[in-house]
Amino acid sequence: MTADLPSAPITQDVHTIPRKVPDSGRLNLVGLTREQLRDALIAAGTPDKQAKMRVGQIWQWIYHWGVRDFSAMTNLAKDYRTLLSERFEISLPEVVTRQVSADGTRKYLLRIAGGHEVETVYIPEENRGTLCISSQVGCTLTCSFCHTGTQKLVRNLTAGEIVGQVMVARDDLGEWPAQGAPKDETRLVSNVVLMGMGEPLYNFDNVRDAMRVVMDGEGLTLSRRRITLSTSGIVPEIAKTAEEIGCLLAVSFHATTDEVRDRLVPVNKKWNIETLLNALRDYPRLSNSERITFEYVMLKDVNDSDEDAKRLVKLIRGIPAKINLIPFNEWPGAPYQRSDWERIEAFADIVYKAGYASPIRTPRGEDIMAACGQLKSATERARKSRAEIAKEAGLGA
Ligand code: SAH
Ligand code: SF4
Repeated sequence: MTADLPSAPITQDVHTIPRKVPDSGRLNLVGLTREQLRDALIAAGTPDKQAKMRVGQIWQWIYHWGVRDFSAMTNLAKDYRTLLSERFEISLPEVVTRQVSADGTRKYLLRIAGGHEVETVYIPEENRGTLCISSQVGCTLTCSFCHTGTQKLVRNLTAGEIVGQVMVARDDLGEWPAQGAPKDETRLVSNVVLMGMGEPLYNFDNVRDAMRVVMDGEGLTLSRRRITLSTSGIVPEIAKTAEEIGCLLAVSFHATTDEVRDRLVPVNKKWNIETLLNALRDYPRLSNSERITFEYVMLKDVNDSDEDAKRLVKLIRGIPAKINLIPFNEWPGAPYQRSDWERIEAFADIVYKAGYASPIRTPRGEDIMAACGQLKSATERARKSRAEIAKEAGLGA
């Protein structure tokens, strides 16, 4: 059964950093690539010859210093600053609530244009801090163990809304130089994982552009090795991810036969295990990265036997890999149970002895429903019924 939840009180507060969803008709500069920013500045009257330099200056103010007001951009002429503030804005998603778990995990509920909501989770660890960001409102896929999968897709996030999540977290953690953050301390947001709501490879262009902004060396400067994109296995986009983003890849594997994976990750019916593994084999070379993370959710009596563990290591032979075992995180109405701890350890042991790192991911932020697969904005009305969920899990109904 589920591990005991932490007993310390949960704090929940309405966040106080004032900011608004863009409603001004001005173009939001957050999330534009350098090229797009250049085009926007030229369209606003910046002389072509100056454009490159202006892009560099504005970029630094936004992404290095954390400045939101054009009037604070003191290396730009006053008139130019006024022009910028008439045409553009620097705006982030609005923080509706921030919850802090007993274990320090922070979950932000963010409101974006159209009144939609997404969640972002910050997980502090000893010498790093990982920010789990969302790429879509809801998800078109219907993995039967995933809470987000019970919510229909509402829309893709824009690149600005994806980058905005990183910036919101830095605001809240006080990590910008403009907020007086010390320069060379270990970074609070040191890693980003695209493991929140949504399937990032079904929103490829926006995710790619957002990650290019996040990786840019003169701004947020997260190296591509500190970004992990998790996919349920959208095969045609995997090589593109290597070539156009170059980040680390995690794959929601979760089963060792097509019969079981069809039920857990229904997109398997389109790209089955063999097709997926073939695409994964090429990833490390194409992206010049070391290994792929295989995520494997531990579901009691569904995918957690010794035979599964043995099949798993056989399947992935030849692929540099780490197996991340994720104890199932329960959510209201979930049709599965978490595997027993001894079972998870026995499974981990078989994988480990076959030569693969097999860490068991400690559930974080469970008390605030911030753990993997628990994200879902409570206010989204478009949702599936329990009967639909049970049906997709192959449980009749
Ligand atoms: N859509 C992408 C990324 C988001 S999900 C994907 O599916 O990979 C991030 C990870 O959490 C995935 O491995 C997903 O399978 C896993 N997950 C989803 N629901 C879960 C749950 N209830 N308990 C544990 N892990 C879950
Ligand atoms: Fe979507 Fe990922 Fe959840 Fe599957 S596990 S429903 S792909 S968010």
